[in-house]
Amino acid sequence: MLRAVEITAELTLPPPREHFHNLHWQRKLDLSLDCFVCERTGRTTRFEYGEERAVCTGDARVEHPAAARVAGFDVTSVQDRLRIRSVVDYWWAPFHDTKRDRPATALTRAPWVRLYLGYHCAESGKEGAFSTQSNMVRPVSTACAHCAAPLAADDRSPGIRLLT
Ligand SMILES: [Zn+2]
Ligand SMILES: [Zn+2]
Repeated sequence: MLRAVEITAELTLPPPREHFHNLHWQRKLDLSLDCFVCERTGRTTRFEYGEERAVCTGDARVEHPAAARVAGFDVTSVQDRLRIRSVVDYWWAPFHDTKRDRPATALTRAPWVRLYLGYHCAESGKEGAFSTQSNMVRPVSTACAHCAAPLAADDRSPGIRLLT
């Protein structure tokens, strides 16, 4: 069955500054899925927007292609908010995870996502990157690794919702 999951996230930007950092969402993400190929629940699956498949990261770093892709990737910046709404499509089939002794679910039991951000520091002329994810201590503020200017505040976990 083809399934779709919507991922939403939002960061708060500091007041405009002289040294603009062009903070932006990178076109990739990691999402936990129940993988019918390796028959394990809660697999970290790596996605890049534009790729026709994703990568399931298996045990002991044994990876395999996953029938999954980023179908939608919409970013908006409204006033002091930097938002993303992404839709991920993936093929899901029922199975039983024998290692954890639990059935697979269309949206994995405790879904988890990691989103990536990039920026350019005009003051130093260097690039920088960081990520935000489910299950981390909030609120958290991130500063530029080069000039220490504030970049974003993160006070809410990303939303993960099964659409179909
Ligand atoms: Zn797998
Ligand atoms: Zn900077």
